[in-house]
Amino acid sequence: MAIPVEKVTPYDEFNFAVPENEFPKSGISARAAAALVVSEEWTDANPMLNMSSFVTTFAEPEAVEVAKRNMYKNYIDHDMYPQAFAMETRMVKWLHQLWNGPKGVEPYGTATIGSSEACMLAGLAHKWNWRQAREKAGKDATRPNMVTGGNVQVVWKKFLRYFDVEPRIVPLKPGNYRLTAERLEQYVDENTIAVVAIAGQTFTGEDDDIQEIHDWLDAYEKKTGISIPMHIDGASGGFVNPFLYPDYKWDFRLPRVQSINASGHKFGLTPPGLGWVVFRERKVFNEDLIFYVNYLGGEMPTATLNFSRNAAPIAVQYYQFLRLGFDGYKRGMTHTLANAVALRDELVKSGYFTIMNETQRIPVVAVTLDPKVKKFNEFDVSNKVREKGWVLSAYSMPPDAQEVRSLRVVVRPHINHNVAMILARDIVSACKYLDEHGGSATAPELHGHSDAKSTAAKC
Ligand SMILES: *Cc1c(COP(=O)(O)O)cnc(C)c1O
Repeated sequence: MAIPVEKVTPYDEFNFAVPENEFPKSGISARAAAALVVSEEWTDANPMLNMSSFVTTFAEPEAVEVAKRNMYKNYIDHDMYPQAFAMETRMVKWLHQLWNGPKGVEPYGTATIGSSEACMLAGLAHKWNWRQAREKAGKDATRPNMVTGGNVQVVWKKFLRYFDVEPRIVPLKPGNYRLTAERLEQYVDENTIAVVAIAGQTFTGEDDDIQEIHDWLDAYEKKTGISIPMHIDGASGGFVNPFLYPDYKWDFRLPRVQSINASGHKFGLTPPGLGWVVFRERKVFNEDLIFYVNYLGGEMPTATLNFSRNAAPIAVQYYQFLRLGFDGYKRGMTHTLANAVALRDELVKSGYFTIMNETQRIPVVAVTLDPKVKKFNEFDVSNKVREKGWVLSAYSMPPDAQEVRSLRVVVRPHINHNVAMILARDIVSACKYLDEHGGSATAPELHGHSDAKSTAAKC
């Protein structure tokens, strides 16, 4: 039995009852504290086998060393750590070039904690730009709205609520899980601060129809005189499209695209804690949003929502860019996509599944059980493979496609072909077992299974 905290001696501190509601009274040895932390952590899922997450779960020993050396640096202190800032500035320019930003302009952007902070900053820039233009024209500037598809990640719903922008969310429908131009007419107007289109969405991995939306907005401007900018949420696609599809125009090559975000900690291959937002040119990030802070050495601009942050993820991203280069990312993403396709083919070949994402660009496998499968559902499969340690998300799609349930696997570069095939085998044998023994009667129902939905939205 665990020893109550007040009776702990140095000999039994490894087994004392960690207090739940009170601040720990006296300390324990370093080894005992580490043992308690690590042993609790052991009961979590294994991140390497967490196939529902987009976030990087592997780093080379050299990258870990770089992280350790930088973990005491506060990124925001540009005066004391000018090189961390210089790395960030250089990487913003690299990303501006990677995403085909126009030449001869001043690139502007910043590292953030993740894409969420990056999306908030981009959303704010568009809100400010819209308001200034409206005020200058002597028009009402009190009712901004933003248009997105129903497939957006939860951060956009947060942005809209926290920053008081009316959501105009185009619903999905079964069989079409992307934002297209088809119904935009009913959603955009003179108060639309931006249309957000996704490159690599969380539900199926697909891209919204970025070119079609862009062209539609061009025609809309011709007709009405209203010019609406686009933001691309490239949380995942931002580090896939440039390497695998160099001729595909999803980025600053489209003039209406004014800002792009991406997660350094997804296919940017940096462990958790890094996002990016890059603007087409400096003036898109409204000057009103920049604060100039007095440091010892002089005035420094700050334009993030966060102030202090660990510099380690920035240093590791810099390591990854130098280590892999364009060719390395291209090679890694090529293998990863091939592994995703091989996994998908195995699942389809089994006869249990149909594919949801015909237009797949990022290495995400999204399948749904074939209509002829009656004895079990996607949640049963997810639960059954969990016995082997795999974490796969099953969820119902957002409105108006709620009746569709999906099983999603994010294939990341640390999974090689062999392991992808082991996963395929484990999924198919789970299905065979469930076919014989039936699924669980307690499997979550079709509609509004909030847990499963939030799993998908979370990652
Ligand atoms: C992951 C994701 C986000 C949120 O990004 P974080 O880096 O987790 O903050 C936003 N949009 C999309 C499309 C995503 O995939």
